[in-house]
Amino acid sequence: MGSHEIIQEVVTHSTEETIQVGRDVGRQIKSPVLILLSGELGAGKTTLTKGIVSGAGAAREEDVTSPTFTLVHKYENAKRIFHVDLYRIGDLHDLETLGLEDTLSEPGIVVVEWPDKLTFRTDWPVVKIQLEHVAEDMRKITIRDEAGILTTATTAL
Ligand code: ADP
Ligand code: MG
Repeated sequence: MGSHEIIQEVVTHSTEETIQVGRDVGRQIKSPVLILLSGELGAGKTTLTKGIVSGAGAAREEDVTSPTFTLVHKYENAKRIFHVDLYRIGDLHDLETLGLEDTLSEPGIVVVEWPDKLTFRTDWPVVKIQLEHVAEDMRKITIRDEAGILTTATTAL
């Protein structure tokens, strides 16, 4: 939190529009940054991540899949991004046990689905993105950019 916080809101009407918002975010980010994605199952967190990863140049969007069972996927090309999904961690709240220690120990770009399952203490810039299911193909995306590192996150549409 701070004086630089920027809050942006956008409503998307298709999967592709959400990917576009993600691409716009991905183009602007640099290490270190922690991107926390919240919202119910099917809200579009993984879809948005496809855009973030491709916009950052870490992988093609079609290569981005949900890390629900593996906990973390690493995408690496021009940039490196860790994509974490904490949905299934249950009562394991220890980064070391989870094998996430390395992911967060050195500065990087880290995208986390279901971030409320853990408490993140970091001095990296944090971007909190909330996705809400409005209607079948409509999602409301609220981007809370606590450090003001994104300027045009929702101009893609
Ligand atoms: P989560 O990771 O939040 O569980 P996913 O991204 O895996 O959600 O799934 C979202 C589903 O909703 C996908 O099947 C996607 O195609 C569909 N969908 C429909 N409209 C949208 C939209 N506007 N934005 C994002 N996803 C959408
Ligand atoms: Mg997901």
